Amino acid sequence: MDQNHVKNLTSRTKGLQTKKQKKASFHRQYDETYLKYGFISTCDSEAPRPLCLICSSQLSNEAIKPSKLLRHMRTRHPEFRDKPLEFFDRRKRDCEGEKRLLKTTLSTNSNALRASYLVSHRIAKTNKPFTIGEELILPACTDICREVLGNQQLKR
Ligand SMILES: [Zn+2]
Repeated sequence: MDQNHVKNLTSRTKGLQTKKQKKASFHRQYDETYLKYGFISTCDSEAPRPLCLICSSQLSNEAIKPSKLLRHMRTRHPEFRDKPLEFFDRRKRDCEGEKRLLKTTLSTNSNALRASYLVSHRIAKTNKPFTIGEELILPACTDICREVLGNQQLKR
C-alpha cells in the first residue's frame, strides 16, 4: 500500500465517522405519557431506550415514539393492548420495587464479603489456624448479630 492510498483511506474513514456522529447526536427523549403504551425508560439520560413492562425487552432509542411503542404492544402483547394507565403504573412500581430489593441484597452481600475479609486478615495476623474462623469466630459473630440486630436482620 503506498502512502497516498493510506491517506485517502484514512480521510474516507474520518468522513464516515463524522457522518455517523452527526446521526447519533440526535436522540429521542422519553415522555412520561408513554407509560400508557406500556413502556418505561432506561436510566440512560443521553439516549434513553424504551423498556417494555410486559416482556422487559429494550427497544432502540429510535423506537421512542407512540407509533413504534403501540406496534410492539399490538403485535407482541395484544392481550395487554387495552389495559388502563393504572395497570402499567402498578407494573412500573412493581418493577422499581424489585430493582430496589436487588440493590439492597447486593450491598448486604458485599458488606458481608468485606467483613469476612477483615476477619480473615485479623486471623492471619494472630498466626492462629484459619479453621478458628469457622469454629469460633463465625458462631461468635452469629451470636453477636442476633443479640444486637435481632433475628430479622440475621436472616438477611
Ligand atoms: Zn414487550
